[in-house]
Amino acid sequence: MMMKADRLHAIGDLRCDSVDVPQPQGTELLLRVGACGICGSDLPRVFEHGSSNGKYPLTIGHEFAGEVVAAGNQADASLLGARGAVFPLIPCRTCDPCLTGSYAMCERYDYLGSRRDGGFAEYCLLPSAWHLIRAEKASMETLAMTEPACVAQHAVRLSGITAGQLAVIYGAGPIGMMAARWAELFGAKALLVDIAKDKVAFAKAHGLDAVRGDQEDIEQAIRARHQGKLADAAIEGTGASAALAGCIACVRAKGTVALLGNPMGDTRLPLKLHSMALRKELTLRGVWNSSRAPYPVDEWAYTVAMMDAGRFAVQDLITDRLTLEQLPQAMADIRGGTRKIVKAMVVL
Ligand SMILES: [Zn+2]
Ligand SMILES: [Zn+2]
Repeated sequence: MMMKADRLHAIGDLRCDSVDVPQPQGTELLLRVGACGICGSDLPRVFEHGSSNGKYPLTIGHEFAGEVVAAGNQADASLLGARGAVFPLIPCRTCDPCLTGSYAMCERYDYLGSRRDGGFAEYCLLPSAWHLIRAEKASMETLAMTEPACVAQHAVRLSGITAGQLAVIYGAGPIGMMAARWAELFGAKALLVDIAKDKVAFAKAHGLDAVRGDQEDIEQAIRARHQGKLADAAIEGTGASAALAGCIACVRAKGTVALLGNPMGDTRLPLKLHSMALRKELTLRGVWNSSRAPYPVDEWAYTVAMMDAGRFAVQDLITDRLTLEQLPQAMADIRGGTRKIVKAMVVL
């Protein structure tokens, strides 16, 4: 049996190919993909640095969901028909980070969609049932947002934000907006900041509080929403030096700045802001990926449960729905700036 798959043949050479449907062996499950989102990291993967381990051709896509249609001879056959979100990281389970549950920090990981074949295809092999987070009611489109939703939730958790507090979030893209929704779900207030007029307008139109970073006094905007106080935590979601400076200025003494956005270049901090980080005794907290460990909480299981319960909505953030055939051109258009997206997704 043949299937369509968007495969990267070389840097800049993404094609929709016809290939054999893989057969599950051992503990593997064959998933019929329902939806797969384009991640911000897929653009540099396709156009700049290519496959992470030199595997070509490589089916890309790591934000996906689907239904189990076949199982290897050591897999649980009762999983046939199960649907859910995919955890794309394949940890080695032997290095120190893995032994302590920090799979995202694995020293020898494999990864669906960047090191082995991923979700921009009609079917995808999962190494085992552990990579499927089962869902009941949530749509495939919603479940395909689980990976970025978990990243957003992880940043909110590591920022320490809690009920009654206010988080300022720099960057009003999909992950920033989902972080704002988690913060609100956890009982906090969230204020998004972005310099892009269209992103601020989109966030506001989708029920979130957002301001223009280049036009408004952010400290004033926060004080106006938080009994005259500064933010309890900031999430830096852009990787820009100016946004990091803004976060430091906006957070109260003893507050936390969570560093989530990948840096766009060398970070430069004005002397005054660097000093301020000392004077305020700020905690600067790196944030990487998300946690699938059982303690303190399995963010993946929790996210899917909240999606299933209809308490964490994301489908309204999807602006572009594509076919596998349309993906290569759409990615070129997104990169070239001729196609503006919030969240784009291949829907099968
Ligand atoms: Zn991603
Ligand atoms: Zn490991």
